[in-house]
Amino acid sequence: MHEVLIIGGGPAGLTAGMYCRMRKMSVLIVDAGRIGGQLVSLYGDKPVHDWPGYHHVIASELADTLIEHARELGAETLDQTKVLDLLRRDDGTFALHTLHAVTRESRTIEAQSVIIAIGGGAFEPRKLKVAGEDALEEDQLTYRLAEKTKVAGKTVVVIGGGDSGLESAQAAVQAGASVTIVQVLERLTGMETNIDEVDILKIPRMLNTRVKELVLEQGRLAGVLVQTKGVEAPVTVPCDYLVVNIGASVNLDAVKRWGIAVEGNVIPVDNHMKTNIDGVFACGDIVTYEGKYKLLLTASKEGAVAANSAYVYVRKPSRVTMGDLYT
Ligand SMILES: Cc1cc2nc3c(=O)[nH]c(=O)nc-3n(C[C@H](O)[C@H](O)[C@H](O)COP(=O)(O)OP(=O)(O)OC[C@H]3O[C@@H](n4cnc5c(N)ncnc54)[C@H](O)[C@@H]3O)c2cc1C
Repeated sequence: MHEVLIIGGGPAGLTAGMYCRMRKMSVLIVDAGRIGGQLVSLYGDKPVHDWPGYHHVIASELADTLIEHARELGAETLDQTKVLDLLRRDDGTFALHTLHAVTRESRTIEAQSVIIAIGGGAFEPRKLKVAGEDALEEDQLTYRLAEKTKVAGKTVVVIGGGDSGLESAQAAVQAGASVTIVQVLERLTGMETNIDEVDILKIPRMLNTRVKELVLEQGRLAGVLVQTKGVEAPVTVPCDYLVVNIGASVNLDAVKRWGIAVEGNVIPVDNHMKTNIDGVFACGDIVTYEGKYKLLLTASKEGAVAANSAYVYVRKPSRVTMGDLYT
């Protein structure tokens, strides 16, 4: 039985795992997809500018350092393994039922405490919901950030004027693509730095504009038919690669089934990252408390707090000091 089982191997889960090992607790990190979280699954190519100590670091490289650090200290990891059910037994220990995405093998893993670090949960990218969308292959459509190798030399339309859309547009221009941003709102909604960047790169944008149809020629994407508010007729914007960055819909049904209290799409926690269930802690994008920011740095900070809280729950030390960790 592991002393701590961490659900989710993003920055929050990996830092929690690293900290559990600083406390010499046995720990297993289980991830439904790739260990590394959003850093590898959503924006591997993107530079991160707000990780202390680095002016900029490519997201997938930052993930590699976090993974290596946790593993080097002895945290065990399992990828492609989704936690389906979490049960608290009468003796205060936990049984977690998992399913492997490839082998379909189900397992029961036992632990003395649990840290939930599932980011946005089982989230699905929001789709445009227009005809033909589901038939487009990966070489013509993505819901992730644009990857430079896939967009180089293409005529790209980016749907969405938030940070993801603006970062995709920048990456595509830098890869030599011709790019148009289509935004349903009357202004771009990303951070000022991202808006400045697309202004500097002079990336054309269509505001107040909604996608009506995809234009296909011989089964291949040739354009996007869009309608701008106040303009009489829709126009076709040429496009052979479509990037849809309009958010994700979150589904926390499983977490609710586990008995964890949920507020909207997040789990409320106290200052110790405790949930409503004794022995279950949570950290990262999935949690909320007053003053919460969804950032890599806060995810990691909360992972460290959750690990120390799990230590107190499992080991019940008479006194907890951080000084033991400094030697
Ligand atoms: C496009 C984009 C750019 C960003 N850029 C920055 C930036 O520059 N700087 C910054 O500070 N922040 C940035 N962020 C935010 C940052 O990525 C998140 O705050 C951070 O990844 C949260 O970490 P996490 O560990 O909580 O969750 P995640 O990184 O989402 O990791 C959660 C993991 O849990 C796994 N999981 C989910 N459900 C289960 C389950 N049932 N069983 C097992 N595993 C499960 C998932 O597969 C995933 O790997 C960006 C976000 C996006 C979308």
